Amino acid sequence: MANVANALLSLDVDAVRKDFPILHQEVGGKPLIYLDNAASSQKPRAVVEAIANYYYRDHANVHRGVHELARRATEAYEGSRERVARWLNAADAHEIVWTRGTSEALNLLAFSLGQGLREGDEVVVSEMEHHSNLVPWQMAAERTGARLRYVELTADGRLDLDQLASLLGGRTRVVALSHVSNALGTINPVEEIAGLVRERTGAVLILDGAQGAPHLKVDVQALGCDAYAFSGHKMCGPTGMGGLWARRSLLESMPPYQGGGEMIARVFKDHSTWAEVPHKFEAGTPNVAGAVGMAAAVDYLEAVGLDQIHDHEQLLTRRAMELLGQVEGLTILGPADARGRAGVIPFVVDGTTAQDIATILDSEGVAVRAGHHCAQLVVDRYGLTATTRASFYLYNTLEEVERLGQVVDMAARMLRG
Ligand code: PLP
Repeated sequence: MANVANALLSLDVDAVRKDFPILHQEVGGKPLIYLDNAASSQKPRAVVEAIANYYYRDHANVHRGVHELARRATEAYEGSRERVARWLNAADAHEIVWTRGTSEALNLLAFSLGQGLREGDEVVVSEMEHHSNLVPWQMAAERTGARLRYVELTADGRLDLDQLASLLGGRTRVVALSHVSNALGTINPVEEIAGLVRERTGAVLILDGAQGAPHLKVDVQALGCDAYAFSGHKMCGPTGMGGLWARRSLLESMPPYQGGGEMIARVFKDHSTWAEVPHKFEAGTPNVAGAVGMAAAVDYLEAVGLDQIHDHEQLLTRRAMELLGQVEGLTILGPADARGRAGVIPFVVDGTTAQDIATILDSEGVAVRAGHHCAQLVVDRYGLTATTRASFYLYNTLEEVERLGQVVDMAARMLRG
């Protein structure tokens, strides 16, 4: 128990919870226990206030204006880009493209990089991918005649690295994999994978960081990837906002994704020339308040400490795996060792459906998700149609995990009759 107490001390969860007004409510007469963080996280006061203050004091359109508010809005927008670049240890703020989130960042890559794909080229993805890191590549393959190759999963929800190595070769142009799986909780050994990709191919390595950036300290240069996509709403930031980090040389080599204002250098009747990166990829009036919210979210997460957040989630995950492991007929998907996984626990219970378990949990105030979690190939791989998924974040407590264990046990007994 000493470890448990120490790890909890590394993060003052009671203080953290005070920053999240939404957590302090009852649903159906029961205290809310929010365990749907892999779908979207809650927002601390600091993020909500930063967005409100921007609108109360500083809003105007960015870049074009010479007046004071336009200057302030531009400073807020570009300053937030610099903040996010520092957080990811990007070499340069020009390497951050603002997008609506991970999905748009990956669509941007698949569309723009996709224009360089040719028949016979190969794009390596895995059976673990969220549909956001799959469907855009399927569409690019459809357009170009390129071929998708799939990294398979081991029985305990890891990427089969030997098989991955066997897929890599002279035809591989893109390798697009998740940093952390939203459907299995697996933390992928991305540095090792980057080594393999470099050794065997000249391909671009893209990481879907939707579940990585909110929970792990990310240093894009140390990871060895070429591009990293992330979403604000999963990391205490606003919805509809996120970004793409990519090496400057890669961004510069890519054609624009959408046309319009902001992304041009000069427009002629028969053609246009493009703005410098990252603006080349940011057509139209951007989500300035979203950028402000992203910077506030990063400030918040770094003030708490990404390492502390990860330790805290590890503690909750270990305890949840212990408790759920005691429920008769319950199987947890993903790595058996909590150290290889993030705070995402998908499970199934014999003789019940994932939806029924989630519905009973909801009636007890426990918010979890049931379904394929936009990763249909994962449930297919394990012969399932759905799992129930509990997912933790910095504000969840050991008491909440204890309650999860009790309620899942109760639901399983009730449903089996
Ligand atoms: N990739 C992973 C691993 C995810 O978990 C998600 C969201 O659940 C996404 C991509 C898509 O993120 P967004 O909906 O914010 O674009």
